[in-house]
Amino acid sequence: MSVIDELVAANKEFQGRFDYGHLPRRPSRAVAVLTCIDARVDLYALLGLKPGEANLIRTAGGRAADAIRSLVVATRLLGVREIAVVHHTDCGLLAFGNDEIREMVRTELGERAGSAAARMDFLPISNLVASVRQDVSLIRHTAMIPDDILVRGFVYHVEDGRLEEIDVT
Ligand SMILES: [Zn+2]
Repeated sequence: MSVIDELVAANKEFQGRFDYGHLPRRPSRAVAVLTCIDARVDLYALLGLKPGEANLIRTAGGRAADAIRSLVVATRLLGVREIAVVHHTDCGLLAFGNDEIREMVRTELGERAGSAAARMDFLPISNLVASVRQDVSLIRHTAMIPDDILVRGFVYHVEDGRLEEIDVT
């Protein structure tokens, strides 16, 4: 039995108490949150969100470069007016650089995978304040996301649950 089997079994329980089939597609609070895939970042809990209220977009590191497509969909199709970028302490991308990740892929998976990895920017983070500023700026300067969309940046502290706003002006 795989973990996924356990997830499928959990869904059976979920269906028994499911009660938000009435929710519309558009998030009721017109907000999108971009954050990391990190398993410790419980966005619903840490931001007081409920299903139906926000578009949650997750990429490794919460990096914006691979979230633009989703942010355009959120703002054009789903009525989102505000975007919060949330990076976090102890992120895996703080621990490894591009060279290390590429070498890991090459060593563990062979030459073909290594060549593909050599062409990929894994968007490592050396400084959290800088990465938040960079990603807020990237979103603000994307022509498909207009200037009237509010974009703010934060660092979430996985050690104590604190959300710290970063000055991105
Ligand atoms: Zn992370």
